[in-house]
Amino acid sequence: MPVVSDSTFAFTSASEGKAFFELAYGLRNPGEGEEMGMIYSRVNNPNLAIVEQRLKLWDKGEDAAFFASGMAAISTMMFTFLRPGDILLFGSPLYGGTDHFIHHVLPQFGIRTLMFTSDDSEENIQALLNAAWPGETPSFIYVETPGNPTNNLIDIEMCARLADFFSAKDKKCLLAVDNTFLGPVFQHPLAHGADLVVYSATKFINGHSDLIAGACVGSGEVIAAIKGMRTFMGSMLDPHSSWLVMRSLETLKIRMERQAESALKVAEYIRNHPKVENVHFLGFLKSGDAQKNIFEKQCLGNGSMISFNISGGEEEAFRFLDNLSLFKLAVSLGSTESLAEHPATMTHVDVSDEDRAKLGIHPNLVRLSIGLEEPDDLIDAIKKAFVLV
Ligand SMILES: *Cc1c(COP(=O)(O)O)cnc(C)c1O
Repeated sequence: MPVVSDSTFAFTSASEGKAFFELAYGLRNPGEGEEMGMIYSRVNNPNLAIVEQRLKLWDKGEDAAFFASGMAAISTMMFTFLRPGDILLFGSPLYGGTDHFIHHVLPQFGIRTLMFTSDDSEENIQALLNAAWPGETPSFIYVETPGNPTNNLIDIEMCARLADFFSAKDKKCLLAVDNTFLGPVFQHPLAHGADLVVYSATKFINGHSDLIAGACVGSGEVIAAIKGMRTFMGSMLDPHSSWLVMRSLETLKIRMERQAESALKVAEYIRNHPKVENVHFLGFLKSGDAQKNIFEKQCLGNGSMISFNISGGEEEAFRFLDNLSLFKLAVSLGSTESLAEHPATMTHVDVSDEDRAKLGIHPNLVRLSIGLEEPDDLIDAIKKAFVLV
């Protein structure tokens, strides 16, 4: 597929231009077999359209929308469905940027927000809502599972039941799931009742640390609404990045499978190290544990994100990171190269002290994203870094 970098597309006749605009603005429904042609690259573009048609297949959605970043996907989606006075119910922990958007941007638009954690049961969440705004219901539920950076799982089916419960005949409460950590290979939220799947495509989906992108997948109806908002926010993905993401989709499954295999080996080494207090890795959940039950219901693999508590505090975590070779000391995740970072002072520095303590984002927590290097080389680098802690 070539890169079609054109900003605008010539119509074959004025009446064709008229027909495309009628469909773009939803002024009438398409006729039998009628498709909207290309108009202008903020509205549509061949590279963007093709990568969207490919991504939707992974999650068995009816349609997909790509964005200039994961945050563009999340913010455009929320502005599509939330209005002043509405209540957003959200699970925590969340990606730092999403957490900031919910805590500091949405309230400026009169949107009320209520947090729950993976420890809260269905009844607890109902009670939290009742205590905050008796008799009122949320219009949108947003969760990230596994959660960043601790891999905490939230039960998608439970959230879908809540969304159904909160839906009125004329207004559905939508459930959106950030599937960046496991999807689209190891988790399919739409199959468990979610209305929308959201991605930072910067991470596993692109996987080469060479662009920023985001995506949403869902029914034709919800994606059409989001694309309508995207046209006016101008938050779509550009043609060249769309083309690069298409390249990446070719290897997505084998990359994610190999990274998950390597992560299991690396996590096993870390778990047995005397300078480690606790490892947060989906491959180590114990049977009987509520988290394990959720894992078995909705996850198809352990993924390749590991976080662990090193004995000590920030000082020990920093010594480990500063002496870690092979891994790049950088935020982001899901790429072919392994990355290491310190959530409490980097990705999650903006989360309140109280929430950080509650969510287990302690000063001794280190997060690793395992790439495609030889796992024994990664283990060797970790072993050497621990010696210098
Ligand atoms: C990185 C990330 C985002 C934000 O995506 P960008 O592409 O950086 O805008 C959202 N959610 C999760 C889980 C992420 O890791």
